[in-house]
Amino acid sequence: MRSYLPLALAGAVLVLVSCASPVPGNPKAEGDVDPGSVAGLPVTNDDQVRSGPRDGAPKVDLTAENADNGDMDQLALGALADLYEYWGERMPADFEGQKFEPLARLVSYDSKGKALRICQTSTAGLVNAFYCSLDDSIAWDRGVLLPDLDKQFGKMSAVTVLAHEVGHAVQFKLGPKSGITQATKTIVKEQQADCYAGGFFRWIADGKSKRFQISTGEGLNKILATMFFIRDPAGTDANKQGAHGLAWDRVYAFQAGFSNGPKTCAKMDQKEVDARISEEKFAERDKNQGNVKVDADKIRKIKISLDEAFKASGAKLPELKDNGSRCQDGKSTEPVAYCPSDNTVVLDGKKLAALGTPPKRGQEIGEDGVGIGDFAAFAEIASRYTMAIQKNSNLPLDNEKAALRTACLTGAWAKVAERPASGENVLRMSPGDLDEAVAEMLMGKSLIAADINGDPVKAGFARVEAFRIGYTNAKECTARFA
Ligand SMILES: [Zn+2]
Repeated sequence: MRSYLPLALAGAVLVLVSCASPVPGNPKAEGDVDPGSVAGLPVTNDDQVRSGPRDGAPKVDLTAENADNGDMDQLALGALADLYEYWGERMPADFEGQKFEPLARLVSYDSKGKALRICQTSTAGLVNAFYCSLDDSIAWDRGVLLPDLDKQFGKMSAVTVLAHEVGHAVQFKLGPKSGITQATKTIVKEQQADCYAGGFFRWIADGKSKRFQISTGEGLNKILATMFFIRDPAGTDANKQGAHGLAWDRVYAFQAGFSNGPKTCAKMDQKEVDARISEEKFAERDKNQGNVKVDADKIRKIKISLDEAFKASGAKLPELKDNGSRCQDGKSTEPVAYCPSDNTVVLDGKKLAALGTPPKRGQEIGEDGVGIGDFAAFAEIASRYTMAIQKNSNLPLDNEKAALRTACLTGAWAKVAERPASGENVLRMSPGDLDEAVAEMLMGKSLIAADINGDPVKAGFARVEAFRIGYTNAKECTARFA
């Protein structure tokens, strides 16, 4: 499902930086997930809190070498001023009084312009941002990377990049307290940096930043979409030098930092990362980048997998019918719907096939008519199927809690689909499939995290969190979303 070359903050480019993650269980391990909240904060949209630089922000007294001091440099320097303030508070508070020292060098460059040599490498064509421990510097590409992110996801997306790089600086400055050693693999350092970025965004969302603000609904959705954008290609080996994680992993690390703060990030070590990382090489069986054609035969196999996952519930398992996604009575959703009156899941095979077709090179998910990948289609079917299970328990199907429960149960099914009983009739998940679920949940009209009427939970953050809870521990779906 990968469709473009990795951007900075990602991939091989960062191998040379001494860049320097997660949390056992879920970012939020206890208590209810409140559909009206994002890690305890109220869900806001951009008409309530406009995401971006604040009006009348204080002047920034930082400068960068080689800067043109245009919009992108101003944005980067504003982010850094904020990050200095954040870490000036957090580092001593969370790490035994250690004082945060500002970076020794800040460097702006244009990957299309005159090449510089930084960190023993040329900036010609280097669409990236990076931290270099050799001279304690952060450098960013003001020519392509930052404007592209701004165009696609807004200004806070560029702030995410700087927050990630300062996360690496923090690792370096913490030394042994960061848990990082010479032997630590890139993936652990990257997970920590994403996590530290999440902690910083919590501070912004809490309203503590003088320069930026962000809404927890639409605003954070775009940040999670940024994490998606800078993911590694599916099939990357997490043990490879330079691995940064799939979207599933990067979004997790960001959410963990957002929910639990920097101390949690410093506890991300090899063992913790190994236990949950989704990034792995394609196996021999994973043909076509792990994507199969979504057709009648695959849908039949998904039904087998769903029956397997939910037979113990005692519910009367629903039948699947390809009739263009129309319920006999009442409302239908597209491209799949659950019809309570006759306990069927009806679907539109053609539309599901389109959703299940990964983007071509150069296309991006979210463009009109561009699909996501097979797993997005299968998970949408699973989401409607779980309505039968919920109905059997006499749970309401038409509110936000039902939408979250649906995401949770779909996650629970995904775990079963990962290690299915063997046999000819099974489909097995492949690397990158969870990213396809994440992509679906970051779209405006996610079905995975929607109630019976197709109304999704507002915050993408809560959608992904609920799915992950089910994936990690199915029992929690009923405990938390009763
Ligand atoms: Zn990094």
